[in-house]
Amino acid sequence: MTELHTVEPAYVPAGKLGFLFDYIITMKCNFSCTYCVIGRGGHDNKIPHPSRETCAKMLTQGFEYVSVVNKYKKERFKDCILNLLGGEVLYHPDIENIITDSTRIYEKYQNDFNLKRRCTTNASAMPNKWKRLVKHIEEFTLSYHPESRDKFKEIFKINAHYLNEIGKKFDTISLMYSKAPYWEDALEFLEYGKKHNFNIRPRKVDGDIYSPEQIKILKEIGITIQHNQQQGRACCGGRSMCTNRDLKTKHTFINRESEGFEGWHCSVPWFFLNANATSKEFNTNQDCRVRFDETRGPLATIDTMDEYVEQVKEKFKNESMPLYKCVQKVCWCGTCAPKSKNLDTLKDIMKIYTTTH
Ligand code: SF4
Ligand code: SF4
Repeated sequence: MTELHTVEPAYVPAGKLGFLFDYIITMKCNFSCTYCVIGRGGHDNKIPHPSRETCAKMLTQGFEYVSVVNKYKKERFKDCILNLLGGEVLYHPDIENIITDSTRIYEKYQNDFNLKRRCTTNASAMPNKWKRLVKHIEEFTLSYHPESRDKFKEIFKINAHYLNEIGKKFDTISLMYSKAPYWEDALEFLEYGKKHNFNIRPRKVDGDIYSPEQIKILKEIGITIQHNQQQGRACCGGRSMCTNRDLKTKHTFINRESEGFEGWHCSVPWFFLNANATSKEFNTNQDCRVRFDETRGPLATIDTMDEYVEQVKEKFKNESMPLYKCVQKVCWCGTCAPKSKNLDTLKDIMKIYTTTH
């Protein structure tokens, strides 16, 4: 990344950048994939499901924050993707009510931003429940886990076909787990998905070690493994990045192991919010712990978020361009939020998105 930094001290996404609100609804999961970490970024069956009331309150607080920020954005950037995440989000026993609540809660904000709910799921919900749930979710990412039971693989297919039938937008990921017989199964499922017109792509398993033959196959199907198998990854949203303000020269691969953006000015609070209903905490995003006051930590809890939103409201009202100054060594998520070593350069870039100056 050092090389990229020296090209031009600014970092801008090449595509349209709306607001990304990641919301963890539960940490529990009905699968136990070998490659899944226990805890953040994976699942944890020891953490109880949060109540419907907690989920609704944090969603309202999150929407309040999004509406404050969006007030200062140009019309075409007033989009918010609400990523419903787990664990396995649809495994929450009250998920039908939680999802229905989101429709009701959004009504108050529909003039402030356009909402798209997106659910990342293992698609193991029973088909009847699935049919009811999908009415309240605009887009899906279905993750096919080759270690899951045959019964769930069948349900996965039924649910995916249903989305196709009703014309609901979804993409499908086949997890390329290297161990036999799962590797073969993941490859077979890739073929199945292509045959049935799923928008399907393979994904390597983080930390997995692939044989030279598997690396060759991965390359053929579009995944390049770096020489030491310690790789960065494309931006989670698949966004390409531009480092020299010439949008024709862009990158899709970001090396997450190298130095971050410590000391840079960063627009991440304009584009990201992370809520976790199990810990009852709000953070900037899943990895960024930077705050306006140049310290690190959660932004607020369920008990202090109302007050935090009021503070942010005042900040946006009184300051022309509230931005973070990065105090984090590595930037794992939020790389796509425009940033620059130079404050004026970033303020200039932000004119693309905002109505402030
Ligand atoms: S389905 Fe996802 S969350 Fe559940 S165990 Fe597998 S990888 Fe982890
Ligand atoms: S860690 Fe946070 S503040 Fe620092 S560059 Fe990344 S997104 Fe921006």
